[in-house]
Amino acid sequence: MAEIEKTFVVEKICPVCEKEFRVVKTRSRLMVTKRDDDGCTHYEDFNPYYYTVWVCEHCGFAADEATFTNKMPDKHLTILRAVLLTKNIKIPFAEERTLENAATAFRLAIKFQELIRGKASKRAKYAHQMAWIYREAGDKTQEDECLTKAAEFYEDALMRESFPIGELTDNAVMYLIAAIYNRLGNRKKATSYLSKLISDQGVREREPRVHDKARDLWGDMRAASRRR
Ligand SMILES: [Zn+2]
Repeated sequence: MAEIEKTFVVEKICPVCEKEFRVVKTRSRLMVTKRDDDGCTHYEDFNPYYYTVWVCEHCGFAADEATFTNKMPDKHLTILRAVLLTKNIKIPFAEERTLENAATAFRLAIKFQELIRGKASKRAKYAHQMAWIYREAGDKTQEDECLTKAAEFYEDALMRESFPIGELTDNAVMYLIAAIYNRLGNRKKATSYLSKLISDQGVREREPRVHDKARDLWGDMRAASRRR
């Protein structure tokens, strides 16, 4: 069971139902095999995105580690408890998640984030990582559906949220949106974001990595259009 060796189980307290539940955590020693232009990292024999979302096996609450471990605002707890504690949802604990388990976890996390009217940037991250698990599984239809949602959520975040969010700058988000639209075959939208980034002197000076990635993607897109 290679999968199990790369993970371990810890117990945490759920902020919603206040019961102890089990979480699968990933060991940090994973070998990177490839990075895609939209930030998806591939690892040898293992996909840590299967375990990004924690799910409480008692009440069904699902979110990322930060949401579970940082103090949750009372108004969010009130909304979530009203929905979850009256429903008796049971999501069985899976030490080794299947694609379906992982997809369910992401779907729930997006749903609860919507319920509390939480940040679009977080919804975007869930939808984007969900696309990545379908990408690895070779399910292009589901991947594209998730990518479309991720792009919309990222665009929403750009309009409504103040950046940076953690280490994520608004320029980095613009790059991600461009990379996603390019994958979805929407060259027009991809180009409009990329040209903004590339022509912005401030990006070149302050965020050279974002600038370089935008230039690389632009080059790839031009090469692809010449091959067509
Ligand atoms: Zn719970």
